[in-house]
Amino acid sequence: MTARRPTMIRGGRLLRPGADTAPAADILVEGGRIARIGPPGMDMPEGCAVIDAAGCLLHPGLVNGHTHGHGHFSRGLTDDLTLETLLAGSFWFNGNRRHEDKYLSTLVGAAEMVLKGCTACYDLFWEFPTASQEGMVTAGRAYSDVGMRAVVAPMVADGSFLASVPGLLDAIPDALRDEITPWTAPTADALLARLAEIDDAWPFDRDRIAFGLGPTVPLLCSDAFMAGAGRMARERNLPIQTHLSETRIQEVTARHRWGRSLTEHLFDLGVLGDTLSVAHAVWLNERDIALLAEAGVTAVLNPSSNLRLGSGLPRMRALLDGGMTVSLGTDSASCSDHQNMYEVTRLAGYLSHVQSPDPARWVTSTEAARAATEGGAAALQMPEIGRLEEGRAADIVFLDLGWVHWMPLRNVTMQLVQAEDATAVRHVMIDGRMVVRDRQLLTVDLARLQRQVSDAVARLDAMNTGNAALFRKLQPIVGRFCSALSPFPQAGAAPLPPASGPDPDLN
Ligand SMILES: [Zn+2]
Repeated sequence: MTARRPTMIRGGRLLRPGADTAPAADILVEGGRIARIGPPGMDMPEGCAVIDAAGCLLHPGLVNGHTHGHGHFSRGLTDDLTLETLLAGSFWFNGNRRHEDKYLSTLVGAAEMVLKGCTACYDLFWEFPTASQEGMVTAGRAYSDVGMRAVVAPMVADGSFLASVPGLLDAIPDALRDEITPWTAPTADALLARLAEIDDAWPFDRDRIAFGLGPTVPLLCSDAFMAGAGRMARERNLPIQTHLSETRIQEVTARHRWGRSLTEHLFDLGVLGDTLSVAHAVWLNERDIALLAEAGVTAVLNPSSNLRLGSGLPRMRALLDGGMTVSLGTDSASCSDHQNMYEVTRLAGYLSHVQSPDPARWVTSTEAARAATEGGAAALQMPEIGRLEEGRAADIVFLDLGWVHWMPLRNVTMQLVQAEDATAVRHVMIDGRMVVRDRQLLTVDLARLQRQVSDAVARLDAMNTGNAALFRKLQPIVGRFCSALSPFPQAGAAPLPPASGPDPDLN
């Protein structure tokens, strides 16, 4: 591999989340890292490339703490799903996928992310009936080809969704249940062995494309598998992420099955630890938050997804007050449709405004911006990203300060959170390389990708016609059964109390 020339970024204004103003500064990039930050016009090494950043605000690449590369083919399919019906319908949305389809779906999401100022993500990637080496490498290759960082984590469980909610399978009429293709979930031991194999053979530079663990939803995982995944994360020092407390129905079910909250259950299994991040974290009570904070767990909030699925509103102020690190994510395009971290960051702040009449309790722009950058670095276990400082990764977004929503320029952090929508993204550098220049993605031919995606989706939609029809018969039964477990509107319901014992909702 040829050595890369050092690069000097001249004339930009450097934003550090939390600062009101962005001072002019030059940045010297060497070997993918920020070697030096200095005053405009500072000396540079001989033979250095120069990037003119005049008129640009430079901010650290946004970090998407939770997405799903397999989900980006689902756009335009539905607008009427709850989380539970979404989980029941994956055989339709993701049916009949070839590895090439998985690659293209991941590539679409990665391309959107980098064009919208996001330089790294945590991808819980799903394959049916279980994760494969080839599938995970395929997802990793898509991120590598686009040029962004990612943690790729097989999203796996040793149980099925329909069996995870007590009584749900019995509520499905026999004739309809017979139409569902039977499958045998892998055992906990087989799954853990598969994860170890994939990790052992991981072919990528882990600073760029890391391998992680993704036991999907605790209710779908046996105790043996969940505890085993936690042990593997500790022994191999791997990032691990699960969907925690996304809907109130999950907490009601946890109390019915185990007599305790999901967080207490994970605590008892020894899964809580500082490489764990928990996606959603909506229905946590104060004891849950204390347990997670004590263990150093990072919360990844997905407000856009929570609104789309009607899951409830995450309590970011309570999580911060409880001492948790908070990150943000888009979630899959199957449940929030876009991969725009600016939009998610704005929502994270604004949602808090309807959770307290006291503005002192609202999430500030600084807190939201930090969650989208430094918080994401914690979720991905990539401490070199999330801040623009000497020695850290050169993952830099160049925003055009001449763009209309930057007029007038006053407080850079507030305007980044309140006004930016990705339309001012001019260039994006990742690992010292330009991936987007003058709003053009340099690594992927989008016109060709569009043709490939439309061909693939036309084939998949034709193959999945029967699955779609089956899902539409299943949807009202699953929807009614699950919503009966928890009061609506969910967003107005209080978190379940920490008291142990079966939840009264089920009695
Ligand atoms: Zn998710």
